[in-house]
Amino acid sequence: MNKYLLTPGPVPVSTEVSLKEARPLIGHRGSEFSSLFSSIEAKLSRLLRSDGKTVIFPASGTGALECLSVNFTGPDTKVISVSCGVFGDRFREITALTGSNIIDVNVTPGEGVTPGVVARAVDENPDASVLLLTQNETSTGVFNHIDEIISVLPEKNRPLILVDGVSSVGAMPCFPEAWGIDALATASQKGLLTPPGLGLVWLSERAWEIAENRKCNNYYFDLMRQKKVLYKEAPENPYTPPVTLYYALNAALDEILTSDWFDQRRRAARALAAGIEALGFELLVKEEKFRSPGVTAFSLKSGDTSAIAKSLKSMGVEPAGGQGKFKGKLIRMSHYHDFRWPEISLALGSLYAALGNARNNAGDFMAAALKRWEEQ
Ligand SMILES: *Cc1c(COP(=O)(O)O)cnc(C)c1O
Repeated sequence: MNKYLLTPGPVPVSTEVSLKEARPLIGHRGSEFSSLFSSIEAKLSRLLRSDGKTVIFPASGTGALECLSVNFTGPDTKVISVSCGVFGDRFREITALTGSNIIDVNVTPGEGVTPGVVARAVDENPDASVLLLTQNETSTGVFNHIDEIISVLPEKNRPLILVDGVSSVGAMPCFPEAWGIDALATASQKGLLTPPGLGLVWLSERAWEIAENRKCNNYYFDLMRQKKVLYKEAPENPYTPPVTLYYALNAALDEILTSDWFDQRRRAARALAAGIEALGFELLVKEEKFRSPGVTAFSLKSGDTSAIAKSLKSMGVEPAGGQGKFKGKLIRMSHYHDFRWPEISLALGSLYAALGNARNNAGDFMAAALKRWEEQ
């Protein structure tokens, strides 16, 4: 059956990108691979608005987060961990494993992280040398304004700012150098519109300096081993890279680097949210400012969402459910890909039919069609 994937990772990949993966393999120690790698680096530089290079690992987003933790935290580090959901908690858990001393700052899931909350924690913990933030909390569909948060922090002696950008980079502005982020982790299968398998890490000059003077107890994720070959004139990867994913990422970046891509994502999110609300669902993120351009979470005003989810699945429409305390209570629909009017109609029409079906509303046009569709 033809399925329409609306999970916030992996997201649908264009035919163009998929076809690139089918090209013959090339060796990773040669000029052809180096020029592919350089092309990706140049495009990432445009996307992130930084001349600094991006390390690319065969890993998922969690691997990229772990890379930041093992390179910048340890038993000697006090870390402020700001979390507003499942992924903020995960970054905290990974970092706790390095033996660092963690100060928890928890924001209610569904609410955004305000600059004041972070500024207070930094002010109260002047000995903290690392701050963990999440730009887009995928478990709730909260988009945090990292630029506004960093702008209220002291310029001098501020902690190293490590940001989980796994579900933001590609779909929404993320300009680490301009904003003052020190280390950014992301992955291929969300905003970057590429199949899963690549973890990406960008560092500020300050972070590269710190990495140089720290000992990393991890071999594979040691950033200094990466730097040695990444900054060569013909860049390389120290270990075997998943070359076909590099083909795909190189092509996907062309789709993202169009002038109005971020605006289109925001516009699609806004329209979808309006339709979802008008259908009578409840959006989890109440404040529009904090709604993600990539993923929208909603629930029924009363009752759980499992019947709706089941109905959507029978139609071949596959959003994700809730995570953590929202299990069974939430539907999360992603719109990272080229999601415009036809996709909005598909999503809203399917939700309308699922609601009609749940209410046994046989007179409804969508529910009537769905009823016949489900007959064998
Ligand atoms: C998906 C996601 C992760 C985990 O990424 P994996 O690729 O599944 O390891 C981490 N943080 C955020 C914000 C995510 O959306």
